[in-house]
Amino acid sequence: MSSNTPNPNVPDAEPPILYTTDSTPSLATLAIHADDSINHYTDVAPAIHVSTTFRYTSDPSKLVPEHDLDLRSPDTPAAGDSHIYSRATAPNTSRLEAVLSNIIGQPSLTYSSGLAAFHALLVHLHPKVVAIGDGYHGCHGVLEVYKKLTNCVIVDLFDESTWDGPNHKLGSGDVVHLETPVNPHGKAYDIAHFAQRAHARGAKLTVDATFAPPPLLDPFKWGADYVMHSGTKYFGGHSDMLCGVLAIARSNADWEKAYWSMWTERMFLGSVMGSLEGWLGVRSLRTLELRVKRQSGNADKLVAWIDGCLKGSTDAPKAEVEAVQKTVTSITHASLQTEDFPWLKEQMPNGFGPVFSFSLKSEIMAKSVPSKLHFFHHATSLGGVESLIEWRRMSDDTVGPELLRVSVGVENWEDLKYDLLQGLQAVASL
Ligand SMILES: *Cc1c(COP(=O)(O)O)cnc(C)c1O
Repeated sequence: MSSNTPNPNVPDAEPPILYTTDSTPSLATLAIHADDSINHYTDVAPAIHVSTTFRYTSDPSKLVPEHDLDLRSPDTPAAGDSHIYSRATAPNTSRLEAVLSNIIGQPSLTYSSGLAAFHALLVHLHPKVVAIGDGYHGCHGVLEVYKKLTNCVIVDLFDESTWDGPNHKLGSGDVVHLETPVNPHGKAYDIAHFAQRAHARGAKLTVDATFAPPPLLDPFKWGADYVMHSGTKYFGGHSDMLCGVLAIARSNADWEKAYWSMWTERMFLGSVMGSLEGWLGVRSLRTLELRVKRQSGNADKLVAWIDGCLKGSTDAPKAEVEAVQKTVTSITHASLQTEDFPWLKEQMPNGFGPVFSFSLKSEIMAKSVPSKLHFFHHATSLGGVESLIEWRRMSDDTVGPELLRVSVGVENWEDLKYDLLQGLQAVASL
């Protein structure tokens, strides 16, 4: 290229927009436009960038060693092609972080997986004590690795002696880690309650909100200091990318310093997302609101149907009531926590999440149901547009052998209902 040919890829002088004011556009709009200001190309669909390394300027007078670079504003992505090496930043993942920071509402970083994000959280906060409940077994696995390195103490979030009395264990700088809604049952916990208790001890509240992405839940509104997501689930939404997300509340003292420390730790631990996954992530977030509202609404209806049949409190046809009562023993989902509605309906005003679990009368019934269904894949994971069901023992030996976990997709809910109905009827005499 001759030196007087304008380079179309040179970044604008304009800084990326971060919407933080009262006129913040809605989630649906941000998911489409939050990265517009760092799109320097005429492509409407984002380009795919796979380069690991990026050319320096050809003007020797403008060469600034990395060490002397002014760091960009912490909650905005690197603009245009102002990248150096993709273990630090890369175009597609920067665009993804621009959109995520806006829809989550706090500065967000991406990681190679949800567990990599949880590891990053522990490395960053390096607590001596971690209080944690049940929940995703993989996070407990990460915590064991962290314990091996640090000799930290792991205590039960739901044991009163963790909180009260002379031997209470939590202190300043420790971590209270809450998963809500919790895997695999889809039961929700009161974030404000745990935030108040954690903060009274000088501990940080970290929330795994994978089961309730925006617009279902904003844990920061209820006092969370950090929020993590397995972006593999709803942010990805198509069962085709691994991703982790860590967001930090601006209300944390020194949050800019904390953000840069997480950024630097990620660069040295090398737990960045791949560029192709970053591209898939942006593609997926465009439809986040549509997908998640639909999936959560579908789950609410399916849960109400099964629960109504189970209790006989429904005007569903007798054959449906019979099929459910012959096979199902219990069902769990936040939508059934009516006693918690005073706080829960405020915490989750837009739906109770697309994952629920139910137990069958026997192990053989539970093992057999997935093979009878047409619109549910028998597979682990969750969050994709396609409905999944899992005999949960396949991947989690901490649950009973009668448990089925369902991740509801965007299909028509009545098609899903009739599929489940014929599946239950098919195993009723086992
Ligand atoms: C899947 C999941 C994780 C782990 O995420 P990966 O992307 O698989 O590493 C963590 N927490 C919850 C609640 C999950 O569902």
